[in-house]
Amino acid sequence: MKDNEKLKRLKIVAKRHARSTAQPQHVALDFVATKLGVPNWNALTTRAKRDWAPSDAEIAKVEALVEKVSSFKDAEFDHVFGGPEAVTEGEVQGHRYALKTMCGDVYMDGEGWHIHLHENPLVPPQVTIDLPHALTSPMNNPKLLAEATGIAKELMQTIKARRFENWPRRATKPNAEGKVRHPFLKMADSDRWYCLHCNGEITGVQIAKNQWHCPGCGASPINIFDQPFWLHPHEEKPMAVQIPAESEAIEPVVTVIDQRPRLDLNKDQVKHLIRCALFEDATNASERMGASLAEIHVDEDLDVFLSFEDHYWPEEKEPHSAREVAALLGVEIFKDVMWTDPLFAWPGLGTVTQSTAEYTRLMLDAYRQHGVIGDDKDE
Ligand SMILES: [Zn+2]
Repeated sequence: MKDNEKLKRLKIVAKRHARSTAQPQHVALDFVATKLGVPNWNALTTRAKRDWAPSDAEIAKVEALVEKVSSFKDAEFDHVFGGPEAVTEGEVQGHRYALKTMCGDVYMDGEGWHIHLHENPLVPPQVTIDLPHALTSPMNNPKLLAEATGIAKELMQTIKARRFENWPRRATKPNAEGKVRHPFLKMADSDRWYCLHCNGEITGVQIAKNQWHCPGCGASPINIFDQPFWLHPHEEKPMAVQIPAESEAIEPVVTVIDQRPRLDLNKDQVKHLIRCALFEDATNASERMGASLAEIHVDEDLDVFLSFEDHYWPEEKEPHSAREVAALLGVEIFKDVMWTDPLFAWPGLGTVTQSTAEYTRLMLDAYRQHGVIGDDKDE
């Protein structure tokens, strides 16, 4: 895509879509890509690096679509697209609940209990009980649980009915040959469909019955295509998906969860704490550069191996704060020095100032006076 502006425009559209539908940014980017006939955002940027670019008209079409979706936000569609205001309150056998929908899923919250219904009809209702309510929760009563899930399912029915209204009839009702139409991607009717996520091969009847979610991995309708074009024909073959037998009723799954934040200290957390302490130990711009360049390796026992870059962090300098942090975490620090080329010539310039901007100025001046500054900004 020669025209970088187009990619920028598409990113803005995706951002807007992510916000209005409360979806992660990457999901929205993939959505925008599929609307341009590309399977996902990665594929789109790859093609863009070559010579491909969507036309202004195509982009405008996606912009109009996203505009339409976000304009539903405050309309009576609230329950379909979700939102903080779209909450229904009620009581089930004297127990209060709040019911809402977000991105096709339904959430029901009571005191110390939560029910989550997924848009994918094959996922069982997820019931969670907060630990302090484990013994006393009304959800321990199977009758009450069934009644509560029943209420959540009713809302799910309404949402689905609204969604199906916008789908072509052929998406949910296979013809005599078992052919179905994708609910919103432009493709020919087919009796064989393929899941981008698990490479599953799905019959038209199966995908229609499962409301266009992959019966194998649960991927959403935008991941279902009429051709497995992402597979190399001779290397991988799509496999028929396995579907639970008709008779297997989908029972709710109840789990008790401990909502308190839990710390299982990992290497990454230790690394960040130590790096943070090193910045505190740095007393000038040069040493801050040293703190940033230091290699921090954390082993299986969470002991820390620090390698300082000799030009920026003086060999004799002790990382006191880092040692204090390590002591609190109950781990050891091992210190080491490495010699690599300095990031910039005259690394000592940073020792005379606290300010990074001042150091940058000194460094640029020194290059201007005693060296050369490349001016090819495109490289
Ligand atoms: Zn799948």
